[in-house]
Amino acid sequence: MQTKSIVMKKRHQDAQSHELHQATVGHGMSTVFERFEAQQPQCGTCRKGLSCQLCSDGPCRISAKAPLGVCGANGDVIVARNLLQLAAIGTAANTYQCRNLANTLKAIGEGRSPLKIRDEGKLQRMCQGLGWDHTRPVSELAVQFADFMLSEIGKQDNEPMTLMDLFAVDKRKEVWKEKGLYAGSPSAEVLTALTKCMTNISNDPIDLMNTALRLGLANEYVGLWGITVIQDILLGTPELVKGAANIGCLDPGTVNIVSNGHQPVFA
Ligand code: SF4
Repeated sequence: MQTKSIVMKKRHQDAQSHELHQATVGHGMSTVFERFEAQQPQCGTCRKGLSCQLCSDGPCRISAKAPLGVCGANGDVIVARNLLQLAAIGTAANTYQCRNLANTLKAIGEGRSPLKIRDEGKLQRMCQGLGWDHTRPVSELAVQFADFMLSEIGKQDNEPMTLMDLFAVDKRKEVWKEKGLYAGSPSAEVLTALTKCMTNISNDPIDLMNTALRLGLANEYVGLWGITVIQDILLGTPELVKGAANIGCLDPGTVNIVSNGHQPVFA
């Protein structure tokens, strides 16, 4: 109920958002606030991560009366598996976006897209940082950098990520290697993580949590790094500017296109 009261309070903090919310509800539509309220009371077992629907023997809920799922998994395993699934989905989504961006950059470099590179200097600096000849034509650099990112995404788990080798702090790398956390590519790590989420593949919550940490490294060094860098190259590196924000930036005299989600190059 505490979460509910926080959400309810926030809904009134911004006058424009409040006005928009009122108009939305007035038109018979629901928002996250109405849907959240309609879901109360939410399941306390699910909230603690102690429910599982991974296989057709379930769903299982862990309680004092039933401390093991049908397969024998205890509460620690189920909580860890649920968290690992979330980490795998997040890593997959970021990597998917990175792949789309790399494919777009490659298409521009090969002259197959009408989009333009807005920050050539950033592309050149990245290529220089990777030890390549960055004085070559930008179109060539775009293709080489895109191919490099696609290769990083798709490496096997016995092939370390070049980006982590290059950019991680040496002392951290030693610790990660010692602890078995020196991750492979996001594709390989997601494959491993989701396999470990299957019934009775890994019943060790520590192993499951270490797998989530590996996902974090793969996500950071390829997925998120790639997204940030390629978006800057394609769309221009952001700078601090003064500008209109919130719903008030919509102009009633023109066509307004509002995009929602993680795909800035959807066009
Ligand atoms: S994997 Fe185990 S805990 Fe999960 S639903 Fe199946 S039997 Fe139940």
